[in-house]
Amino acid sequence: MTKGKLFVISGPSGAGKGTICKEILDEDKTLKLSVSMTTRKPRDGEVDGVHYHFVDHSAFVSLIAEDGFMEYADVYGNFYGTPKKQVMDWMDEGINVILEIDVQGALQIKKSYPEGIFIFILPPSIEELKNRILGRGSETEETMARRLGAALKEISSIDEYDYRVVNEDLQEAVDRVKAIISAEHSKINDEEVERIINRYKEEL
Ligand code: ADP
Ligand code: 5GP
Repeated sequence: MTKGKLFVISGPSGAGKGTICKEILDEDKTLKLSVSMTTRKPRDGEVDGVHYHFVDHSAFVSLIAEDGFMEYADVYGNFYGTPKKQVMDWMDEGINVILEIDVQGALQIKKSYPEGIFIFILPPSIEELKNRILGRGSETEETMARRLGAALKEISSIDEYDYRVVNEDLQEAVDRVKAIISAEHSKINDEEVERIINRYKEEL
């Protein structure tokens, strides 16, 4: 069976990764989203096990000690990580997986799993990024300044990625990410070459 593909959707906080991923997952039921673990407190409306696995610091550190994360990072003072087992099981079953993670995490995955497909979501401008973060309404002055400062640093890692999508008009950005996913399904890889040739050979 062909292994599932790993799509890593990343970019600065507030660029719209979560919004884009939600639209894509609503439309494409063959994709699964990895639910991250975090030590951050839930925001209003966030559900444990759906938006994140919300845990305390000691539970997070235990999973680090068990080598249970594909990647993890300290993002603005809270830990966030991708639990390894679920993602590996899905890919082994041939299921395509989306990770929606920050840039530090994506760069770690690029090292350990370079065959992933790395997509960077850009905001149209820093001003618009600020408006979006403000609109989400969970930032203090201090965390806002930190997020904007980090955004510029994160954007300078864009050369590590395979694709970039500017999220100005939401539907356009969603369509572009869908087009990337679709194109990747038609990409020729070594494993496939042999299978394709053999399939036609058998008919002769
Ligand atoms: P991220 O997951 O990258 O941190 P979110 O998906 O939470 O970002 O989006 C940040 C905010 O911006 C949310 O309030 C969301 O509704 C809004 N948003 C996302 N995409 C757009 C867009 N294309 N135009 C306007 N607002 C957007
Ligand atoms: P938020 O607190 O707004 O939900 O997320 C803050 C940042 O952490 C976002 O950029 C989000 O993509 C990122 N994030 C969410 N889950 C993970 C994860 O598992 N690993 C890493 N490295 N970042 C994550």
